[in-house]
Amino acid sequence: MSTPCSTTARPRHWRGLLSAGLLALFYALPWLRWDGRQALLLDINARRFDLFGWTLWPGDVGVLIGLLAVLAVSLALLTHLTGRLWCGYACPQTLWRGAFEGIARGLARWLPAVAVRPATQLAWGLLSLWTGITFVGLFSPIAELVAAAPHAGWSGWETFWVVFYAAATWGNAGFLREQVCRSLCPFARLQPLLTDPHTPRMLYDARRGEPRGPRPSGLGGVLGRGRSLLDPTTAQDYVFRATHPLLAGPMPTFSADRLGDCTDCAACVSVCPMQLDIRQGPQADCLACGACLEACARQQHQAGFGTGLLRYCSPQ
Ligand code: SF4
Ligand code: SF4
Repeated sequence: MSTPCSTTARPRHWRGLLSAGLLALFYALPWLRWDGRQALLLDINARRFDLFGWTLWPGDVGVLIGLLAVLAVSLALLTHLTGRLWCGYACPQTLWRGAFEGIARGLARWLPAVAVRPATQLAWGLLSLWTGITFVGLFSPIAELVAAAPHAGWSGWETFWVVFYAAATWGNAGFLREQVCRSLCPFARLQPLLTDPHTPRMLYDARRGEPRGPRPSGLGGVLGRGRSLLDPTTAQDYVFRATHPLLAGPMPTFSADRLGDCTDCAACVSVCPMQLDIRQGPQADCLACGACLEACARQQHQAGFGTGLLRYCSPQ
């Protein structure tokens, strides 16, 4: 089943709000109360799982496995129908990486250059530590955990997991970054099994965009100035030449009126968290985050061209 194309950029603040909301939910979750108890608590010492008023005991482990299976199947179905939207919008790696980048950008704006790096590392470290405490607070009552922190009153396993989770947060979001998605994440390796040719993905319209290149301002888009779309073979030939100049030889020089709508501004490449050039074709590492679509739509709007040079769409 193919889904309609998305050619318009989702406003950046919409994505930012979604990320902020999901992060706030994670940090608030252990503090929520239900009937006088922590609403969500997998209390390993007491061998009970509180889930918003519902209590699971060791004999209910089958229910817990069933719940996890439903979540896994839902994620697989979502990926099949919508592509990697989970990866691009809701995955913890995406959320914390975005938060780390936001902190670094914010501090760079307000602090003198010499203070930015240490302040960024300090802020990342504090956020990572609080993330570790929040995570362990899902397994050990959070109020007691926080109250015991100043007196070093944590048990051995609490200390280990707080430090481990804090280090994993800092390492994944601040150091490994896109390498987590590219090389470590098992879900990313499963994606080809969950998708088919109807699953939407980020696509570049080479027939309209090629040949790419800078041009004088005021030149209309290909549709507006009556240049027809290229045939698919010619369009792919230009993509290949632009991507592999050593193999294919130099690109011919085109007069401005023969250029396509891609101005070769590289905005789509510079915003890509995976450092991809989506003009080379659909790529397995693409997270479907839409950052390239936003950047290109802005650029195309400024140039006075129509939308849809990059689009999130089913190829068939
Ligand atoms: S190519 Fe890069 S920026 Fe574009 S959707 Fe994929 S991961 Fe995001
Ligand atoms: S942002 Fe759009 S116009 Fe700029 S290089 Fe990428 S595809 Fe071409």
